[in-house]
Amino acid sequence: MKLASIQAAEAKLLLQTYERHPVLFTGGKGVYLTDEQGDNYLDLLGGIGVNALGYGHPVIEDAIAAQSKKLLHISNLFFHEGQAELALRLTEITGLDRVFLSNTGTEAWEAALKLARAHSALLRSEGKKTGTKILAMSHSFHGRTMGSVSTTHKAMYREPFGPLVPGVEFVGFNDVDDLRAKFSEEFCAIGLEVVQGEGGIHVASREFLATARELCNSTGALLLVDEIQAGMGRTGKWCSYQHLGIQPDITTLAKPLAGGIPIGAMLCTEEAARAMTPGMHGTTFGGGPLACAVAVAVIDHMQQQNLLAHVTEVGSYFREQLHGLATHHTSIVDVRGLGLMIGVELNSADLAKAVAAKMMERHILLNRTSETVLRFLPPYILERKHVDIAVTALDEILKQTTSQASTVLAGGHANG
Ligand SMILES: *Cc1c(COP(=O)(O)O)cnc(C)c1O
Repeated sequence: MKLASIQAAEAKLLLQTYERHPVLFTGGKGVYLTDEQGDNYLDLLGGIGVNALGYGHPVIEDAIAAQSKKLLHISNLFFHEGQAELALRLTEITGLDRVFLSNTGTEAWEAALKLARAHSALLRSEGKKTGTKILAMSHSFHGRTMGSVSTTHKAMYREPFGPLVPGVEFVGFNDVDDLRAKFSEEFCAIGLEVVQGEGGIHVASREFLATARELCNSTGALLLVDEIQAGMGRTGKWCSYQHLGIQPDITTLAKPLAGGIPIGAMLCTEEAARAMTPGMHGTTFGGGPLACAVAVAVIDHMQQQNLLAHVTEVGSYFREQLHGLATHHTSIVDVRGLGLMIGVELNSADLAKAVAAKMMERHILLNRTSETVLRFLPPYILERKHVDIAVTALDEILKQTTSQASTVLAGGHANG
């Protein structure tokens, strides 16, 4: 009843940007969410890869409580204790030199794009031949602000908002020949996700990434790697590029960084950082005391508990079980991913939609991305027993749904 009145009010009052599931969540503990009736849901989506430590985690609750008694906001005109503490940790885990803190993922990516343009201007002022174009990838996703949508591939996210930021071109993700053919001295940056999230959980090949690195090195262009979804331990390493042995010039972090408190970060090399001087870029809220304190607490907890090893272990167990399902369900086309960033591609968009809805009916949360792909981004504290619940449910649903479909196709009764 409460849900119905909220639905009616939102339908009238909110800009209609979201298609929400009709559930009203009121709390959560561990990897489970609780709705207004007190029913529990196994959460394998984690607020789209944000709630790394699940719900009601004492480390996060304590950090919020302690910081809220000290200071919530002071602006970037003054010092506070948190930014250098967080920057120290972020530079250590990424291998980069300097940090700019923002509030969201898209702002971190905007900072990356602006820095790439400013750096190319600096190079030109020093007599180097470099242009201002940016090379982005097919199936990329970098966020919803103008620069980010301009480097995002999907037409639906870009086309209603033209004219977009000029100078962006796209190459086929993992198409080494296309990358070599399109790249030139006209570009100041190549931007990519090592594991494409919204694009359907596709992992870059070692050769593609090495080629992007080599091409950037040949002209002084910057390699921008967006780790907003795949970074901060999601794949079992702090950054997904660490699986493939390359180092970017710029990376961006956000989603799980402060375990549910909004924050983003852009990290860069000393060389790229030369291009930014005081006043050129900034934010009112970014890097505030609360977000920094919580991010520091999350990172320290992950290190103390060795959560990266746990993500690797449970993630490979999860993928093994899914590969097992794929051997007796021909509707599963592919199982992909790294760590706890997992995609299961089904053979039709309708089936993926039906399966996601049926999982929801069984109180297991996941989402569908790129039409045919079931996406799992669970909290890092997920255990094998939760994987078993999800895989058993998926097995049963696939059996039902595909046998119904074939009965219908054969002209029989769906429930015969
Ligand atoms: C979610 C996401 C973004 C945008 O982050 P917001 O916090 O929603 O602005 C950018 N890049 C990638 C890879 C993402 O997954």
